[in-house]
Amino acid sequence: MLRIYLDNNATTPVLPEVLEAMRPYFGEHFGNASSIHHHGQETRAAVERARVSVASLLGCRAAEVIFTSGGTEGDNLAIAGLTNAGDHVITSSIEHHAVLHACKHLEERGCEVTVVPVDGRSLVDPEDVRRALRPNTKLISVMMANNETGVLQPVEEIAKVAEEADVYFHTDAVQAAGKVPIDVKRMGCDALTISGHKIHAPQGVGALYVLAGTNLHPLFYGGQHERSRRAGTENVPGIVALGKAAEVAMQAFERGDDQKMSDLRDRLQRGILAQVEEAGVNGEGAPRVPNTSNIYFDHIEGESMVIALDLKGLAVSTGAACSSGAIEPSHVLTAMGLHGGRAHGSIRFSLGKQNGAEDVDIALALVPETVARLRELSPVYRKTAVSS
Ligand code: PLP
Repeated sequence: MLRIYLDNNATTPVLPEVLEAMRPYFGEHFGNASSIHHHGQETRAAVERARVSVASLLGCRAAEVIFTSGGTEGDNLAIAGLTNAGDHVITSSIEHHAVLHACKHLEERGCEVTVVPVDGRSLVDPEDVRRALRPNTKLISVMMANNETGVLQPVEEIAKVAEEADVYFHTDAVQAAGKVPIDVKRMGCDALTISGHKIHAPQGVGALYVLAGTNLHPLFYGGQHERSRRAGTENVPGIVALGKAAEVAMQAFERGDDQKMSDLRDRLQRGILAQVEEAGVNGEGAPRVPNTSNIYFDHIEGESMVIALDLKGLAVSTGAACSSGAIEPSHVLTAMGLHGGRAHGSIRFSLGKQNGAEDVDIALALVPETVARLRELSPVYRKTAVSS
């Protein structure tokens, strides 16, 4: 069966050139990057080259990049590493659980946390962040792009609020990296998280930018890796892959691939909405990353739709992959004010670099007929249709 993958916010396939770049580090270049002999020097050089690539993607200095095991670790390192018991932290209601649960854990360790709301488009109001400030506020953590809706937050304005109040600003840019240009200096953040597997590098590698001179407590204690900010022998193949994926992402921006992806996404979205009634875009009207469209289909159960489409070879998602199968509707869509039915009937379509126009054509053929069939089977939908 022909399989089309439109769930790239869950994970992306490793690009062939990324796989090629990392392959030698599983074989002939196997050294421990901390060893002083030839084998170690070879892998150390590769790690440092990757650090320079990631730094160029983020607009920072190489020394400000800490390699991690992924987005979850980066978020946890920033949140726990920049705070102490007694501090106050501000975050938003639509963060990934890597941030929300890390903040919950801080509360158990004697910190206070304020969760600011979002509007109907899932946007945080920087004035709400300002109003939440307290004398003991130490950190603001608001994501750059949301994983479910793709909506981009006003991070530069939030960074200004943080700067004026002299508190740290961390942003989870896991879903923004490689999709929109990032310049941490222009944005004015103190810490920023990215993850390899969302930008066509493998799962289990990521990076955290931390502004030089920032006092960061490590999560792990051990050797002096990553300038004592992240103990543990480096995942050299993963780091090399992340460096290559960062290079590929920068070249794609230069070619204007982000605009092409946005055109493709818009065609998918327009095509679905033209053929399906009682459907709409979650986050409509807000700035979004170019690859994501989260669409609600009234009178549809999202999980049934994912399964029905999967049987036809199309992979999409109801929201955060780690919540799939959960009975609770998405906390992001609920925070935006979507009622239960609509939150349950929302589907996320997310494109990747491997997707082309033909994938969108197939999705446009499959989605409307699947919605129609599921609605036909739904006693609730039929009742509504008959009574109206
Ligand atoms: N933050 C966001 C916004 C995400 O979408 C994800 C993954 O879905 C993460 C953090 C966690 O990243 P990782 O899977 O690399 O731990």
